[in-house]
Amino acid sequence: MINITIDGRKLEVAEGSTILEAARENGIEIPTLCYHEALEPFAACRLCVVELEGPRGSRLVASCVYPCEEGAVVHTNSEMVQHSRRTTVELLMTFASHVPLVQELAAQLGAREPRVRLESNDCILCGLCVRACQEIVGVSAISLINRGIEKKVKPPFEIASSVCIGCGTCVFVCPTGAITLEDIGRPRLAHEWHSEFQARPCRVCGDHYLVPESVSDYQELLAEEEPS
Ligand code: SF4
Repeated sequence: MINITIDGRKLEVAEGSTILEAARENGIEIPTLCYHEALEPFAACRLCVVELEGPRGSRLVASCVYPCEEGAVVHTNSEMVQHSRRTTVELLMTFASHVPLVQELAAQLGAREPRVRLESNDCILCGLCVRACQEIVGVSAISLINRGIEKKVKPPFEIASSVCIGCGTCVFVCPTGAITLEDIGRPRLAHEWHSEFQARPCRVCGDHYLVPESVSDYQELLAEEEPS
Protein backbone atom coordinates (compact mmCIF):
# COMPACT_ATOMS: atom_id res chain seq x y z
CA MET A 1 0.00 0.00 0.00
CA ILE A 2 1.12 3.60 -0.58
CA ASN A 3 0.01 6.94 0.80
CA ILE A 4 -1.42 9.72 -1.33
CA THR A 5 -3.56 12.80 -0.71
CA ILE A 6 -6.59 13.44 -2.89
CA ASP A 7 -8.58 16.65 -2.34
CA GLY A 8 -7.02 17.03 1.11
CA ARG A 9 -7.88 13.46 2.17
CA LYS A 10 -4.93 11.30 3.20
CA LEU A 11 -5.51 7.87 1.70
CA GLU A 12 -3.83 4.50 1.69
CA VAL A 13 -4.20 2.95 -1.76
CA ALA A 14 -3.04 -0.20 -3.49
CA GLU A 15 0.34 0.10 -5.19
CA GLY A 16 -0.05 0.04 -8.96
CA SER A 17 -3.52 1.56 -8.97
CA THR A 18 -4.22 4.60 -11.10
CA ILE A 19 -5.36 7.91 -9.62
CA LEU A 20 -8.82 7.32 -11.10
CA GLU A 21 -9.11 3.88 -9.48
CA ALA A 22 -7.87 5.20 -6.12
CA ALA A 23 -10.29 8.14 -6.24
CA ARG A 24 -13.32 6.03 -7.17
CA GLU A 25 -12.48 3.44 -4.53
CA ASN A 26 -12.66 6.21 -1.98
CA GLY A 27 -15.89 7.72 -3.25
CA ILE A 28 -14.28 10.66 -5.08
CA GLU A 29 -15.96 11.19 -8.43
CA ILE A 30 -13.92 12.02 -11.53
CA PRO A 31 -15.85 12.34 -14.82
CA THR A 32 -14.80 10.17 -17.77
CA LEU A 33 -15.97 9.48 -21.29
CA CYS A 34 -13.52 7.03 -22.82
CA TYR A 35 -12.94 4.96 -19.67
CA HIS A 36 -14.56 1.57 -19.04
CA GLU A 37 -13.39 -0.68 -16.26
CA ALA A 38 -13.52 -3.76 -18.52
CA LEU A 39 -11.05 -2.18 -20.95
CA GLU A 40 -7.47 -0.94 -20.88
CA PRO A 41 -7.41 2.81 -20.18
CA PHE A 42 -6.86 4.95 -23.24
CA ALA A 43 -6.58 8.59 -22.05
CA ALA A 44 -8.29 9.88 -25.19
CA CYS A 45 -11.08 12.12 -23.91
CA ARG A 46 -8.99 14.12 -21.39
CA LEU A 47 -12.04 14.61 -19.21
CA CYS A 48 -10.48 12.73 -16.30
CA VAL A 49 -7.55 15.14 -15.92
CA VAL A 50 -6.55 16.00 -12.35
CA GLU A 51 -4.01 18.43 -10.94
CA LEU A 52 -0.87 16.79 -9.59
CA GLU A 53 1.35 18.87 -7.32
CA GLY A 54 5.08 18.62 -8.01
CA PRO A 55 8.36 20.25 -6.94
CA ARG A 56 8.23 22.56 -9.98
CA GLY A 57 4.56 23.39 -9.71
CA SER A 58 1.34 21.68 -10.63
CA ARG A 59 0.50 19.93 -13.86
CA LEU A 60 -2.47 18.14 -15.35
CA VAL A 61 -2.35 14.37 -15.80
CA ALA A 62 -4.92 11.92 -17.15
CA SER A 63 -6.05 10.10 -14.01
CA CYS A 64 -7.17 6.97 -15.88
CA VAL A 65 -3.59 6.09 -16.82
CA TYR A 66 -1.47 7.95 -14.27
CA PRO A 67 -0.25 5.64 -11.47
CA CYS A 68 -0.43 6.63 -7.80
CA GLU A 69 2.99 7.49 -6.38
CA GLU A 70 4.03 7.60 -2.73
CA GLY A 71 3.33 11.04 -1.28
CA ALA A 72 1.49 12.35 -4.36
CA VAL A 73 -0.86 15.28 -3.79
CA VAL A 74 -3.80 15.40 -6.19
CA HIS A 75 -6.67 17.85 -6.72
CA THR A 76 -9.62 16.53 -8.70
CA ASN A 77 -11.71 19.69 -8.90
CA SER A 78 -9.38 22.71 -8.78
CA GLU A 79 -9.78 25.75 -11.04
CA MET A 80 -7.03 24.37 -13.29
CA VAL A 81 -8.91 21.07 -13.63
CA GLN A 82 -12.28 22.70 -14.20
CA HIS A 83 -10.84 24.98 -16.87
CA SER A 84 -9.36 22.00 -18.74
CA ARG A 85 -12.58 19.97 -18.52
CA ARG A 86 -14.68 22.94 -19.67
CA THR A 87 -12.42 23.34 -22.71
CA THR A 88 -12.75 19.63 -23.50
CA VAL A 89 -16.54 19.82 -23.34
CA GLU A 90 -16.64 23.05 -25.39
CA LEU A 91 -14.67 21.24 -28.10
CA LEU A 92 -17.16 18.35 -28.01
CA MET A 93 -19.99 20.88 -28.29
CA THR A 94 -18.71 22.03 -31.68
CA PHE A 95 -20.23 18.88 -33.21
CA ALA A 96 -22.12 17.06 -30.42
CA SER A 97 -24.01 19.74 -28.49
CA HIS A 98 -27.27 17.83 -29.21
CA VAL A 99 -26.02 14.71 -27.40
CA PRO A 100 -27.65 14.48 -23.92
CA LEU A 101 -24.43 13.30 -22.26
CA VAL A 102 -22.52 16.31 -23.63
CA GLN A 103 -25.35 18.64 -22.57
CA GLU A 104 -25.22 17.18 -19.07
CA LEU A 105 -21.45 17.68 -18.83
CA ALA A 106 -21.74 21.21 -20.23
CA ALA A 107 -24.29 22.12 -17.55
CA GLN A 108 -22.16 20.59 -14.79
CA LEU A 109 -18.99 22.35 -15.89
CA GLY A 110 -20.50 25.64 -17.01
CA ALA A 111 -19.21 25.19 -20.57
CA ARG A 112 -20.08 28.00 -22.98
CA GLU A 113 -21.47 27.75 -26.48
CA PRO A 114 -18.59 27.12 -28.90
CA ARG A 115 -17.72 29.82 -31.44
CA VAL A 116 -17.31 27.26 -34.20
CA ARG A 117 -19.93 24.77 -35.36
CA LEU A 118 -19.08 21.60 -37.23
CA GLU A 119 -21.42 19.09 -38.81
CA SER A 120 -23.47 17.37 -36.09
CA ASN A 121 -22.31 13.93 -35.10
CA ASP A 122 -23.47 11.60 -32.31
CA CYS A 123 -20.05 9.93 -32.21
CA ILE A 124 -17.64 11.68 -29.83
CA LEU A 125 -14.69 9.50 -30.94
CA CYS A 126 -14.09 8.10 -27.46
CA GLY A 127 -12.95 4.82 -29.05
CA LEU A 128 -14.80 2.62 -26.53
CA CYS A 129 -16.48 0.61 -29.30
CA VAL A 130 -13.18 -0.02 -31.10
CA ARG A 131 -11.44 -1.18 -27.95
CA ALA A 132 -14.40 -3.31 -26.81
CA CYS A 133 -14.49 -5.04 -30.20
CA GLN A 134 -10.76 -5.68 -30.00
CA GLU A 135 -10.24 -6.44 -26.30
CA ILE A 136 -13.52 -8.11 -25.29
CA VAL A 137 -14.85 -9.65 -28.51
CA GLY A 138 -11.43 -10.22 -30.04
CA VAL A 139 -12.33 -9.58 -33.67
CA SER A 140 -11.29 -5.95 -34.41
CA ALA A 141 -14.10 -5.41 -36.89
CA ILE A 142 -13.91 -1.61 -36.57
CA SER A 143 -11.25 1.02 -36.10
CA LEU A 144 -10.68 4.77 -35.91
CA ILE A 145 -9.78 5.92 -39.41
CA ASN A 146 -8.58 9.23 -40.90
CA ARG A 147 -7.27 12.25 -38.97
CA GLY A 148 -8.49 15.59 -37.68
CA ILE A 149 -12.09 16.46 -38.51
CA GLU A 150 -12.23 13.47 -40.89
CA LYS A 151 -11.63 11.03 -38.05
CA LYS A 152 -14.39 8.43 -37.62
CA VAL A 153 -15.12 4.86 -36.54
CA LYS A 154 -15.68 2.48 -39.44
CA PRO A 155 -15.03 -1.09 -40.60
CA PRO A 156 -12.11 -1.47 -43.05
CA PHE A 157 -12.78 0.27 -46.40
CA GLU A 158 -16.10 1.43 -44.94
CA ILE A 159 -17.87 -1.66 -46.26
CA ALA A 160 -19.67 -4.44 -44.36
CA SER A 161 -17.16 -6.12 -42.10
CA SER A 162 -16.54 -9.78 -42.82
CA VAL A 163 -15.48 -10.42 -39.23
CA CYS A 164 -18.23 -8.59 -37.34
CA ILE A 165 -20.34 -11.16 -35.47
CA GLY A 166 -23.21 -8.81 -34.63
CA CYS A 167 -22.71 -9.30 -30.89
CA GLY A 168 -23.75 -5.73 -30.12
CA THR A 169 -20.92 -5.09 -27.64
CA CYS A 170 -20.04 -1.86 -29.44
CA VAL A 171 -23.67 -0.77 -29.21
CA PHE A 172 -23.72 -1.54 -25.49
CA VAL A 173 -20.57 0.39 -24.54
CA CYS A 174 -21.25 3.46 -26.70
CA PRO A 175 -21.95 6.31 -24.21
CA THR A 176 -23.95 8.43 -26.68
CA GLY A 177 -26.12 5.86 -28.46
CA ALA A 178 -24.34 6.62 -31.74
CA ILE A 179 -24.16 2.96 -32.81
CA THR A 180 -27.18 0.99 -33.90
CA LEU A 181 -28.13 -2.62 -34.47
CA GLU A 182 -31.74 -2.49 -35.53
CA ASP A 183 -34.63 -4.43 -37.03
CA ILE A 184 -34.98 -4.06 -40.78
CA GLY A 185 -37.97 -6.32 -41.23
CA ARG A 186 -37.88 -9.23 -38.86
CA PRO A 187 -35.96 -11.34 -38.33
CA ARG A 188 -33.20 -9.33 -40.04
CA LEU A 189 -30.97 -7.00 -38.07
CA ALA A 190 -28.80 -4.35 -39.69
CA HIS A 191 -25.71 -3.05 -38.01
CA GLU A 192 -24.33 0.46 -38.09
CA TRP A 193 -21.31 -1.12 -39.81
CA HIS A 194 -23.34 -2.18 -42.88
CA SER A 195 -23.50 -5.88 -41.87
CA GLU A 196 -26.81 -7.74 -41.87
CA PHE A 197 -27.75 -10.72 -39.72
CA GLN A 198 -30.66 -13.16 -39.51
CA ALA A 199 -31.68 -13.08 -35.86
CA ARG A 200 -33.12 -16.07 -34.00
CA PRO A 201 -36.04 -15.74 -31.59
CA CYS A 202 -35.73 -15.96 -27.82
CA ARG A 203 -37.49 -19.16 -26.69
CA VAL A 204 -39.08 -17.28 -23.77
CA CYS A 205 -40.29 -13.95 -25.16
CA GLY A 206 -40.22 -14.77 -28.87
CA ASP A 207 -38.36 -11.59 -29.68
CA HIS A 208 -35.63 -11.92 -32.28
CA TYR A 209 -32.34 -11.03 -30.72
CA LEU A 210 -29.84 -13.87 -31.09
CA VAL A 211 -27.34 -13.43 -33.89
CA PRO A 212 -26.03 -16.95 -34.71
CA GLU A 213 -22.60 -15.59 -35.69
CA SER A 214 -22.09 -14.44 -32.10
CA VAL A 215 -22.57 -17.93 -30.60
CA SER A 216 -19.61 -20.26 -31.00
CA ASP A 217 -21.54 -23.52 -30.50
CA TYR A 218 -24.60 -22.33 -32.39
CA GLN A 219 -25.10 -25.56 -34.36
CA GLU A 220 -25.25 -27.57 -31.10
CA LEU A 221 -27.66 -25.04 -29.65
CA LEU A 222 -29.87 -25.33 -32.71
CA ALA A 223 -29.83 -29.14 -32.56
CA GLU A 224 -30.94 -29.00 -28.90
CA GLU A 225 -33.66 -26.53 -29.68
CA GLU A 226 -35.06 -28.23 -32.78
CA PRO A 227 -34.50 -32.01 -32.55
CA SER A 228 -34.98 -33.63 -35.95
S1 SF4 B 1 -21.15 -6.05 -33.20
FE1 SF4 B 1 -19.40 -6.33 -34.62
S2 SF4 B 1 -18.28 -4.37 -34.52
FE2 SF4 B 1 -19.65 -4.42 -32.72
S3 SF4 B 1 -18.39 -5.30 -31.06
FE3 SF4 B 1 -19.48 -7.02 -31.99
S4 SF4 B 1 -18.07 -7.81 -33.55
FE4 SF4 B 1 -17.34 -5.74 -33.00
